[in-house]
Amino acid sequence: AKNSGKNCYRVFDPSMNEQVHRMNIMREALDKDLDNGALKLVFQPFFKSTDHSLAGFEALARWEHEEFGFVPPDVFIPLAEQTGLINKLGDWALREGCYIASFWPSHMKLAVNVSVPQFQQECFIDRLEDILRETQMEANRLELEITEAVFADNPDAINEKISKIKRLGVSFSLDDFGTGFSSLMYLIKFPFDKLKIDRSFLQQAERDESAKKVLQTIAHLGTQLKMETTIEGIETAEQLPMISELNCTYLQGYYFGRPQQVIDIGGFIARDVQR
Ligand code: C2E
Ligand code: CA
Ligand code: CA
Ligand code: CA
Repeated sequence: AKNSGKNCYRVFDPSMNEQVHRMNIMREALDKDLDNGALKLVFQPFFKSTDHSLAGFEALARWEHEEFGFVPPDVFIPLAEQTGLINKLGDWALREGCYIASFWPSHMKLAVNVSVPQFQQECFIDRLEDILRETQMEANRLELEITEAVFADNPDAINEKISKIKRLGVSFSLDDFGTGFSSLMYLIKFPFDKLKIDRSFLQQAERDESAKKVLQTIAHLGTQLKMETTIEGIETAEQLPMISELNCTYLQGYYFGRPQQVIDIGGFIARDVQR
């Protein structure tokens, strides 16, 4: 393959055919497994930073194929996006998540990740309303996590859609904040309820004083704009003193709880900051 500046083209490469072929096989397998109920949701808890009490769970999709084994979401979600399966997958995740969460205590939130093409489909609001009704999930317990990539084209239409869905009672989190081609304009123009600060900031802040300043500034910005904030990817107790200085609303990461399939809500207890 050749990549030459402006006139970007690719010469024939047999491995490309192979790649397409493999992608088709994977697509078919994913499609089938969606029908078979072979995909599962796991739930990762998030906690209030003030008292470390359990606030809710983020649903994360898992796929284990009988031949390919465990396929990570970072592989099958983009695959689904590229092959048009994401609406089916996203629909399933939303429905399954809402159904399961409808049995949780009523103060427990459910966060569901929504892909850009999924959110862009015309009938997304109708699908969402159907799912809420069918699962009897309260709209005000549901949070949709979207990334800023959603604004790449027609941001006005997206803004309108977000506002419409918010009127149902559903809230919005801006996921992976800071990793994309962030424009701070998004924070002013779009009515997000929560800012999820990508874990790469936390990781770097541990080693790097300026990364730490950036992390502090982002957290402060969220607070100033009256948004809730979540620090993602907390892995160790050593990170906690720095995190508590940030005054974020929620904490999430392996240290507090891994994504898990079976949830014993009573088993989640507040975690002591300094242990
Ligand atoms: P995300 O939405 O940013 O989800 C957080 C990812 O970080 C999850 O990876 C989670 O397991 C992982 N994580 C949580 N705490 C820690 C930590 O302390 N340390 C580290 N190293 N990682 C942590 P996962 O489950 O592999 O999902 C990857 C991505 O796939 C998600 O990133 C999300 O963008 C996408 N995804 C997963 N499930 C769905 C889904 O149902 N729908 C859509 N549209 N996307 C999904
Ligand atoms: Ca997320
Ligand atoms: Ca994230
Ligand atoms: Ca992500």
